[in-house]
Amino acid sequence: MQAVFDGHNDVLLRLWSLKRGGGDPVADFVNGAANGHIDAPRAREGGLAGGLCAIYIPSGGLILRQPDENGHYDTPMSAPLERQPSLGIALDMASIALRLDRAGAWRLCRSVGDIRNAMADGVFAAVLHMEGCEAIGADLSELDVFYAAGLRSLGPVWSRHTIFGHGVPFAFPRSPDTGPGLTEAGEALVRACDTMGILVDCAHMTEKGFWDVARVSTRPLVHSHSNAHALTPVARNVTDRQMDAIAERKGVVGLNFATTMLREDGLENALTPMSDLIRHIDYMVERMGIDCVAIGSDYDGATIPAEIGDASGTQVLVDALSDAGYRGDDLAKLLRENWLRVLAETWGETP
Ligand code: ZN
Repeated sequence: MQAVFDGHNDVLLRLWSLKRGGGDPVADFVNGAANGHIDAPRAREGGLAGGLCAIYIPSGGLILRQPDENGHYDTPMSAPLERQPSLGIALDMASIALRLDRAGAWRLCRSVGDIRNAMADGVFAAVLHMEGCEAIGADLSELDVFYAAGLRSLGPVWSRHTIFGHGVPFAFPRSPDTGPGLTEAGEALVRACDTMGILVDCAHMTEKGFWDVARVSTRPLVHSHSNAHALTPVARNVTDRQMDAIAERKGVVGLNFATTMLREDGLENALTPMSDLIRHIDYMVERMGIDCVAIGSDYDGATIPAEIGDASGTQVLVDALSDAGYRGDDLAKLLRENWLRVLAETWGETP
């Protein structure tokens, strides 16, 4: 079985919702759950060895627009969120991550050395990520505290506008060039991340925001969970020009399993064949090279192909990649090594 290190999941959102309903996130993760995609038993079964786990503040009112008769949809942007309750929710999710670590349910990793050790020990290697920074104020004081709690990756925006920048809406077909990019506070955030060794994730940013990050940051450029816009022209996917810049900076794009970002018709449909995932992988490898493509499942955050089902089905993709001709070092790069290289470079480690 091939170990997979994955660039994006929303298991903390699932565990936070469970806790709000009176459940025990540690017991749920350790013993397994009937719903969602990731828990320890299913991760073990599918060879999902670890990944970036997002602190994400839900947009309560967001309902994805139904496609029209042409299959087109354009969901209006979610309203910006207030600092509170965002900060409280983010602290609660960070606390769940820390409690899972303390209980030995997973390992909260702060270095690639930590990740490799956890993988060798057969413990889920979690890296704390923040998807949209509504919990952080312009003076970045909360960033210091979240960093101390283990935060090693963040996206300045989700598909919402914040004091740091502008997000892309969920729209198909649509270019990612939907508005302005980083604000001045956003540029300061990116510079602080560079200095501290925090990965900046461009997923959910406008195309202008992406170019702003490319200009301000000195680190590898990353879209943690996005696919090829040329194949599925949803605003969240990555254009050829962006891919060229990611390749030049030796960054990475993680393949998102969300069917809306994989299918030619952009529809949410679990009956999406594995060939659609391979099509995107092939395209991105062709465009950027084998060193710049990885996995960004979006487990617990999206409708994914039924053939994979949940984390326990992760090897279904591994087998499909192998059948498509990805073997040996190339397969290892796609499944984990590219992520570990980019994280090591971003965090200032020697890999
Ligand atoms: Zn996302």
